[in-house]
Amino acid sequence: MNDYLRTRRRLLLDMHIPDWDDRFLADYEPAELARLAREAGVEGALIYCKSHLGLNYWPSPVGGIHRAASARDLVAEAKSRFEAEGISVGAYHSVIFDNWAADNHPEWRVVPATREAGYDWTVLGHRYGTLCPNHRGYQEYEEQQISALLDRYDFDVLWIDMAFWTAVCVCDACEARYRQEFGVPIPRVIDWSSVEWTRFQSARERWLAEFVAELVAAAKSGRPALAVTHNLAPGLRDWSRGQRAEDAAVDDFAAGDLYGGFDEQVFVIALMRGLRPGVLTEFMTTRTRDLFTHTSTKTEHEMTTQVLIAVAADSAFLFIDAVEPSGRLNQGVYQRMGRAFAAALPFEGELGGEDITDVAVYYSDDSRIDEADDGSPVGAVHAGGSRHQDAVMGAVRVLRRAHIPFSVVTRLDNARLARFPVLLVPDARRLSRADIDALRAYVAAGGRLYASGRTSLLLSDGTALADFALADVFGCHAIASEEGSTVSLRPETDTLRAAAFPELTVPVGRRQPAPARPGPTLGLPRIAADDSTRVLSRLSLPFGYPSDGTRAGRDFASIHSSPPWEHTAHPAIVAADYGAGRSVYSIAPIEAEGGPQHDETLVALLVGELGLAPRVTAVGHPDVWITAFHQPDRSRMLVSALRLAEDPPEGSVPVTIRARPPRGTTVVGVRDVESGEPLSWRWDDLVVVIPAAVELFAMVAIELSAEDPSAS
Ligand SMILES: [Zn+2]
Repeated sequence: MNDYLRTRRRLLLDMHIPDWDDRFLADYEPAELARLAREAGVEGALIYCKSHLGLNYWPSPVGGIHRAASARDLVAEAKSRFEAEGISVGAYHSVIFDNWAADNHPEWRVVPATREAGYDWTVLGHRYGTLCPNHRGYQEYEEQQISALLDRYDFDVLWIDMAFWTAVCVCDACEARYRQEFGVPIPRVIDWSSVEWTRFQSARERWLAEFVAELVAAAKSGRPALAVTHNLAPGLRDWSRGQRAEDAAVDDFAAGDLYGGFDEQVFVIALMRGLRPGVLTEFMTTRTRDLFTHTSTKTEHEMTTQVLIAVAADSAFLFIDAVEPSGRLNQGVYQRMGRAFAAALPFEGELGGEDITDVAVYYSDDSRIDEADDGSPVGAVHAGGSRHQDAVMGAVRVLRRAHIPFSVVTRLDNARLARFPVLLVPDARRLSRADIDALRAYVAAGGRLYASGRTSLLLSDGTALADFALADVFGCHAIASEEGSTVSLRPETDTLRAAAFPELTVPVGRRQPAPARPGPTLGLPRIAADDSTRVLSRLSLPFGYPSDGTRAGRDFASIHSSPPWEHTAHPAIVAADYGAGRSVYSIAPIEAEGGPQHDETLVALLVGELGLAPRVTAVGHPDVWITAFHQPDRSRMLVSALRLAEDPPEGSVPVTIRARPPRGTTVVGVRDVESGEPLSWRWDDLVVVIPAAVELFAMVAIELSAEDPSAS
């Protein structure tokens, strides 16, 4: 194991600086940068060897060399200065994005399908020259550069950035490879329910994964101690980039740069821990508000909270800081960064152990699609998010606010789902047969499944199904698709009525009048339930449904909104027993809606219908996020409580932690980790109850001992 992977406080010194002006990087002074980093508490740093400009900061045998590095080896200088400050150093290397190669080898460039619509567009736009990984010459160029870099310097880590498709590429190399593999040209129309299109998308994903695997192999050849990773973040974007989260399987550790706020960070760390278990994950984000602002530093509170999210989730944390064009850094930023990192110090030696999570959220790479694109020319579509990703993030938010610790799983966990008593599959719109078999086997063996929306109606190979592949598990069948823009769910049980209160129904979707085309339809399945299935909620429809309503049609009941009017007998949420397990299926991904009625309905379903009983949870303010780990080697459970609030809290909030010790152990004491002081606690049946007060962050150690056999 190398040093970098053991560090928790990390820095990426972002240096995407061109060299067409002599003043650029004229003041670059690695000794000064390394000193600032050490003073900020940085333990591990990634330094730029090649930026998106394709300019190397070392005498690479191929490719461009930054003019500031023509007489100096800036990589050697930075590496030795950082190491002299006691900081472990990794190499950052950009692929695909390489302006030098795009200028000097135009034949390697991506040819975006948008060209056929009359213009060129690649991810991030016109400042960047991007290359096609299907060009053998380009692959060899990268492999040569990476091998020479790692021959010349002894790095702990190689960090590969930007290994994704910047467009649907229709260059000669891609066309030739596709024709060679399938005997047909690249399809030009998106259609997720066709074999032609899905086969092409699978090919893009495979080609990219092979490109990355070749780079990793070149890097590791003869260097067994080197750890290699490639940025996970594009695997969380839309399908067009062709990267999958599951591609992290080739990495020695999972790492990704994200900019989406606290819930996204909580989600991504949980995802990365699942993808590469047993090795510290690396959550990266800018110290600025985002990548597109250079001088907009986050508040100390936000930086501190982000660092503490990583602490609470047992991840490393990395700040990205971009040097000024002159090569200088902002000293004040490093002082702020230092204070944020200092908040982690009392806890770092305490971390580790096994996650105590009793529910997992299923993240499906294949479901990152939007069927609304079907029929569109590929050059005309700029893919955005997906309803699956919205639903996953919504589920994470609900669980976090309900103080229910959770894990995130992918198809890589298909054989290990039984670890979790409850599993959420939020609107997984496109699954493989193997995924579906794994979900069915999970329930058959006693698992408790919540699924929503269009889950299991479309197969990854483009087969559109008339009924759910999981109809037997759900205890219901799809019989139609909702063509309106909004419907309501009408609870049939006391618990769900209480969750909807004071309303009698829970709304789903909203009117989105659009000028030039029909507004989006819900596309939710309409279902019929089996006789043995319990109906928990039924469907109510607005007046004039499915019309969105017009003046001439006189087909609405309230001019702005679409209140429920017709209370149908169609089931909307159902519960069924299957094998040794149980399922709850909701036609609507209520987790994606974000309202209090929806959140309470989901929690009521998980707890009331599926029997979710977290071993660790809490009662308290919804901003407080709870994580828990079992550390058998230290005979204790570690519970963290972090307030995720936009502004610094004034005063503390009461939080009552409730924890069930592992079987065969009992609680002998409870301590506040930071102060070492004992905390009061009591038993409530088999649960230990710990009243605590949380200002920003608290970590509690629940000390365990083996139960006294004579006592039982
Ligand atoms: Zn290509």
